[in-house]
Amino acid sequence: MNPTETTSALILLFGATGDLAKRKLFPSLYRLYKKGSLNDQFAVIGTARREWTNETFQQHVKESVMASTSQCEKLDEFVSHFYYQAHDVSDSSSYRTLKTLADQLDEQYHLQGNRLFYLAMAPEFFGTIADHVKADGLTDTTGYHRLVIEKPFGHDLPSAEKLNHQIRQSFEENEIYRIDHYLGKEMVQNIEAIRFANALFEPLWNNRYISNIQVTSSETLGVEERGRYYETSGALKDMVQNHLMQMVALLAMEPPIKLSTNEIRSEKVKVLRALRPITKENADEYFVRGQYGPGELEDERLQGYREETNVDPDSNTETFVAGKLMIDNFRWAGVPFYIRTGKRMPTKSTKIVIQFKDIPMNLYYQPDQPLAPNLLVIHIQPEEGITLHLNAKRAGQQLLTNPVKLSYANNSVDGMNTPEAYEKLLHDALRGDATNFTHWDEVALSWRFVDVISDYWEEKKASFPNYEAGSTGPKEADELLAKDGFFWWPLSTLEVDVCN
Ligand code: NAD
Repeated sequence: MNPTETTSALILLFGATGDLAKRKLFPSLYRLYKKGSLNDQFAVIGTARREWTNETFQQHVKESVMASTSQCEKLDEFVSHFYYQAHDVSDSSSYRTLKTLADQLDEQYHLQGNRLFYLAMAPEFFGTIADHVKADGLTDTTGYHRLVIEKPFGHDLPSAEKLNHQIRQSFEENEIYRIDHYLGKEMVQNIEAIRFANALFEPLWNNRYISNIQVTSSETLGVEERGRYYETSGALKDMVQNHLMQMVALLAMEPPIKLSTNEIRSEKVKVLRALRPITKENADEYFVRGQYGPGELEDERLQGYREETNVDPDSNTETFVAGKLMIDNFRWAGVPFYIRTGKRMPTKSTKIVIQFKDIPMNLYYQPDQPLAPNLLVIHIQPEEGITLHLNAKRAGQQLLTNPVKLSYANNSVDGMNTPEAYEKLLHDALRGDATNFTHWDEVALSWRFVDVISDYWEEKKASFPNYEAGSTGPKEADELLAKDGFFWWPLSTLEVDVCN
């Protein structure tokens, strides 16, 4: 489908009283409205269990927007587009009442029958809602019907297949927008521009010039109040299957023939198909898991994962994963893609480090150490930018070099914050651009890859905890790279330099 500029639509938001709606979705819609990306022809029906009036809901939306920004012009006008309907997700009569209101708003706002169903609810409801919206006539309009689904999409391949089969009874694949909010991040989208808009990088983007690629997404927070959910998930399913594998696919894909949804997705799928499969026999060689024990961060004593609320005191759940992915194709044969994610690490950061191979012989040197390799660092969050690490001649000294950094920081150059991931994704979904959403084939291939590891880890109890809260993870994560002759680039040395 070609993206259109029309954003006229009725947004049916399931789970409208929840955390995601409050913290992300309402502020994002408001920013789109303020910029004019969302015109006056839109309406939102929020649904959830609570018996709220329209006024209570509008006040709730208003407060959520005011909590996100101090510049609230046109806010009353914006919230006047919001309506509320108390709802029981498994009861047909709820959907019929919803349909009556939807049809009325369709006419009132001239929405041309366009409907976006956004499921900001626990995943066990996804299938039921998709069934009902079709069976109870909410998709009986002449406009488009799109289903936006939050993560997680299943908890393994069989459950994802079951869910996919169920929602496909009501929506076509091209009507399903599976959110991976990392794909809405400015610098993740920038991976393609860095690669395909620069003559400098693409010729070097292969196993002749790149020695390894490191993708790290670290958090300082522990599991907080998400213990119940996290115990059934762990870092592998919560972070690796979706966000990290998506970043690897963007880094490794072949240049698409054009930047269209289908072409990009098809190149990403090829990468996922080329991943060297992990088996139970070799899993320990490629993947390492960890769980934080008590520790210290910025002078604060922190409890271990097993002491957190709603966590089994004998939990086998991993809060840290490091892995080595090998992509067995012509471009990447022999180049490890190391991925790492964890909770209670020393910094909150998502970064990609592309390490180039050493030059054939050193004519110059750095005192007391070998010449540093060139690095291209892509800063995803919290800073957004790129840094190129080079060697330059030290002034006055004939053969000595200094490491130098060429930095570009997005936020400092543009003088404003870049749009939030959810803002961009909502706008894309309204315009019908599914490029930054995951296709079923990507979801299925990623689950197939991680299922083997998670089954193996479930069978084999780990000796947890194995890293201290506030540290960079278990020592086995360092050994994973050391046996290949590499090391994790310390996140602190990779910070983007902002030169004003
Ligand atoms: P939440 O628990 O805060 O909200 C859930 C919503 O569903 C509430 O509005 C609740 O009233 C409604 N609900 C629950 N049971 C219902 C029922 N039987 N009938 C009608 N309504 C019912 O959850 P959340 O944090 O907003 O997360 C929603 C989804 O978004 C989940 O899939 C989650 O994994 C995903 N997600 C959330 C975040 C986040 O930052 N909160 C981030 C990424 C993904």
